[in-house]
Amino acid sequence: MTEFNGWAGAILDVDLTSGKIERQPLSREMAIKHIGGLGFGTKTLYDNVGPDVDPLSPESVFTIGQGPLCGTLSPAAGRADLVAKSPLTGIFLRSNLGGFFGPELKWAGYDLIIVRGQSPRPVYLWIKDDHFELRDASHLWGKDTWETERILRHENKDHDIKALKIGPAGENMCYSSAIIGDLARACGKCSLAAIWGAKRLKAVAVRGTRGVRIARPKEMVALATELWERFKEDPMYASHCRYGTNTWVGDTVMKSMGGIKPELSSQAFEKLYHKNISCSGCALHCSHWLKVKSGKYAGTQGEGLEGNTQLVGFDLGVGADFMTYYNNLCNRMGLDTMHPGAAIQWAMSLYRDGIITRADTDGLELTPGNEEAVLKMIDRIIRKEGFGEILDMYPVRAAEKLGRGSENYISHRKGYPSPYTGFMSSVKTTLAHAVATRGHDHLTGSPGIETPNRQPEMTNEILEKLGREKYGDPTMFTDTSYTPQRKYALRVWECENYFAMADMTGTCKFAAREVLLVKGIDIPDFARLLTAATGIEFSPADCTRAAEREMLLERAFNAREGIRRIDDYPFALWYLKKFGRPHPRFDYARLKMSAEDYGKLLDMYYELRGCDLETGIPRADKLNEVGLDYVAADLARRGILPQPTTAHV
Ligand code: SF4
Repeated sequence: MTEFNGWAGAILDVDLTSGKIERQPLSREMAIKHIGGLGFGTKTLYDNVGPDVDPLSPESVFTIGQGPLCGTLSPAAGRADLVAKSPLTGIFLRSNLGGFFGPELKWAGYDLIIVRGQSPRPVYLWIKDDHFELRDASHLWGKDTWETERILRHENKDHDIKALKIGPAGENMCYSSAIIGDLARACGKCSLAAIWGAKRLKAVAVRGTRGVRIARPKEMVALATELWERFKEDPMYASHCRYGTNTWVGDTVMKSMGGIKPELSSQAFEKLYHKNISCSGCALHCSHWLKVKSGKYAGTQGEGLEGNTQLVGFDLGVGADFMTYYNNLCNRMGLDTMHPGAAIQWAMSLYRDGIITRADTDGLELTPGNEEAVLKMIDRIIRKEGFGEILDMYPVRAAEKLGRGSENYISHRKGYPSPYTGFMSSVKTTLAHAVATRGHDHLTGSPGIETPNRQPEMTNEILEKLGREKYGDPTMFTDTSYTPQRKYALRVWECENYFAMADMTGTCKFAAREVLLVKGIDIPDFARLLTAATGIEFSPADCTRAAEREMLLERAFNAREGIRRIDDYPFALWYLKKFGRPHPRFDYARLKMSAEDYGKLLDMYYELRGCDLETGIPRADKLNEVGLDYVAADLARRGILPQPTTAHV
């Protein structure tokens, strides 16, 4: 068997139907080509789950993995990745979580868990180093995620167990459900927990005591020290350590939505901060333990709450105290925080315009600020009861089921909810969200810090200097025009590569140039860290090539599911192209970019990514170049590999 450093060297293949679990060796080819976590998951998904597989059927397969840096001294390397085909969107799904689960899995000796089949009864997967088994989870079924974790630790007499688990929402196969690690680390978006519910898998509980072997330990210690020192020089370091995403996501996006609401601002949350919280091995400690000390929600406490959840409160018309309660409720019930929030906002718009009434909403008055109604509707969503069943299906299926013109009130990309027009605060973020492989998404490759709403610490002077040093173009990060320019496409391509490398190695994106734009982990740093951990020489070009391979494989998976160029347009422009008429509720004159100009920008992105300009599907020459020949052959066999005549010239 190959001896590994960095990687644990083993995969667990779990068949829930037969109850059989196989421990398999990790192959050296898989390790080097797909790196870990996200990469292993995407490769496994592509090979096992085709267009004919229903994500909620026993035939569907999902993975849990972590990368070769996870659980080592490498900075902010405590992340794990889950990969599946989404029940909500029917396309590729990747979900990443911090906390402590990823390192524990590494220390138990596994790089990847593959789960297939369907158990006849509720079970949980128990792993302690070399020992693994499926155990009865009947007594856990129906329990919330916090209680489940408490019982798992108690009955196994070990407080250091780390577990991923679903709550009642996942058990009920809600589209809006999420898997929860620790108390508040969510694998949300796109209904992964519904797959667990369908497979009757309540939890994966792990205890690892074997540690991890590092090829060049002294080099790793020196590198980690150097990087942590370097991070401190980043202009965003202090702010991110103090506020996390409450400022650079919550406040800044709120500003672009119509102004910061004081009751929902980072200052409002700062009053609730009790202490900072960190994921495994991360000195950025950007999370918080929140405590509500007075008022209606006094006594509420828990970990959170990140910037995108903060934004959910904007349209719900609620403040920080309520959102802290809401955040805890979602974490306990195993519910995504953003999906049900977006669904309720949709219902509030319909209610406001008289499209639905109390007769539809189970008697609830769905108006902004009605906290009781929001909480009651959350309960109905989890139970799929009454109007809650429709809201759980938001956006596409919900509008189809409700009818009455409610489809004119939804907005989505590839089936995942998006803001109204799909246009974000800059051209770069708009392109990144639109081309994202799991639907409208900020975590696939959206530049976070360089938008027009960036933080005051990130001055023009700093960005111009960075642009000059890295690209010989001082306007690289500061140009905010809405004209199609190759440099915008280049930034999105680069961010996708950074983020893919972060998710493949087990590193937090916040440390990998999403937040620490100036001094964070860059591609050459990933190469040095991987070399120190594994003892295999990785060059920056190897890392970029691995990231390209990952993104092309994700796009090829989606192409097989029917995703094409039109699906990479922001919502309002997608609607125009799809139906050949403007969306009835948008004023197109106010959009900052025409379909024609956006098309030019998309061409530039496709050129960089190696995709056919006509279809958006990866080209054969590019697939072959990155070692995905078998994928090109598969797409050709299915008749969807772009012909050379339509490829980029
Ligand atoms: S930066 Fe924040 S989210 Fe990322 S690993 Fe560190 S503490 Fe966790």
